[in-house]
Amino acid sequence: MYITDLNKDGGIGANSLLLEIGPFRILIDAGMHPKQIGPAALPNFRPIKQEGVDAIVLTHCHLDHLGALPLAAKTNPNAPVITSIPNLTLAPRMLRNSINVMKRQRAEHGIQEYPLFVHRDLAALSRQFEGQQYGRKETYRSQGSTFDITLHTAGHVAGASAVEIEHDGEKICFTGDVLFDQQNTLPGAQLPSGPFDVLVLETTRGLTERPQGKTRATETERLLKKIVEILDRGGSCLIPVFALGRMQEMLKLLSKSLRDGTLPRSSVFVTGLGLDLANHFDQIRQKTGLIDFDIEVIEEMGAGPLEPNLVPGRNPTKRGIYLVSSGMLVAHTPSYQVAASLLSDSKNGICFIGYCDPDTPGGTLLKTANGERFLFDAYDYSTPVHASVDQFDMSGHADREELVAYAVKTQAKKIVLTHGDPEARAWFKETLQKVMPESEIIDPKPLDRISL
Ligand SMILES: [Zn+2]
Ligand SMILES: [Zn+2]
Repeated sequence: MYITDLNKDGGIGANSLLLEIGPFRILIDAGMHPKQIGPAALPNFRPIKQEGVDAIVLTHCHLDHLGALPLAAKTNPNAPVITSIPNLTLAPRMLRNSINVMKRQRAEHGIQEYPLFVHRDLAALSRQFEGQQYGRKETYRSQGSTFDITLHTAGHVAGASAVEIEHDGEKICFTGDVLFDQQNTLPGAQLPSGPFDVLVLETTRGLTERPQGKTRATETERLLKKIVEILDRGGSCLIPVFALGRMQEMLKLLSKSLRDGTLPRSSVFVTGLGLDLANHFDQIRQKTGLIDFDIEVIEEMGAGPLEPNLVPGRNPTKRGIYLVSSGMLVAHTPSYQVAASLLSDSKNGICFIGYCDPDTPGGTLLKTANGERFLFDAYDYSTPVHASVDQFDMSGHADREELVAYAVKTQAKKIVLTHGDPEARAWFKETLQKVMPESEIIDPKPLDRISL
């Protein structure tokens, strides 16, 4: 077996791993780097262009795993693109949105290569998709031989899978992004127990220590209290969320809390891709029962769209809870717009519920003290921060200790680290070496073909 990490920048970046097992070449994920722009955001696909692949597997539909899939599929038109049933609905929707974003960026930043793919490519990709049920081993044939793939629910986000691949007695498991906790819309991960020859392990939270007593439940409670506080003082509350997953999680939480009186009666504003995905979640629930999300919660809350033409420094005409993407206040997104309107008024509050990359406007705002100035670059508008700004840990990723415990259980002979910053991987490497002295722990250098 060989593995090559095609994510040329390391870190979390543009996730894409090439597995060679027996005579087969299988690509796991084809993401786009969230912080890069233009062709620099792509994985290095040279190894899959030269020799091709027999199959492509998509673990889930976040863009750091999915964003470059149409290109990988296009260079390998005969390879099946294997993924869970919910992703057959979610992937095309996410990618259509990517095309629109790239078209806008082409105009804004003059990136000639954008869009990197077009709607015709999505139609071609759809013909390559092979939906696979969780927990069912499927056999794929190529070159007169076979390999088996089993998908397992990975929590994290709707459609997320861990991927078990077997050929000729060798077994490897890719965790993908994992969350063991149950969420409002999804059950927690049910990962295969092994034993494996190789386990490819995500390491996102390698640097995050969970303080005693701080759980998803206590963080949820703290968030709801903060929202009540903001509404009680007559302000509006912005909750920036990822459109896929976090948005629908929060819609369920808000509707329940409004219904049971935890939150006072208030207006809720939602918008954009996340709202559209909520409709898809409802369809997937009806078709597969794999997601617990009913679109009626939106109607029941009376959630409405944002008013057009919000003005920086001026409160929206209607007070309430703004549940909008992006989760990290990326420029020109609805959350960036709402933040610019709310930030100068001390009655308002912003509640981040997930990780913010330090280089994004959200990350910068979290480092800005109350009273200090914050610049909304895209509007050339700056204001002292008067609104409250808080962060709550409701991560979509498993705690590092849970992942180590899982790795131990699988008795994997070799563990390949992926999807983490260098320091996060270093923590996993050191910890796993201690608790699994018989196993080899590998942090692959990008583009090195590692023999396993
Ligand atoms: Zn993810
Ligand atoms: Zn990811």
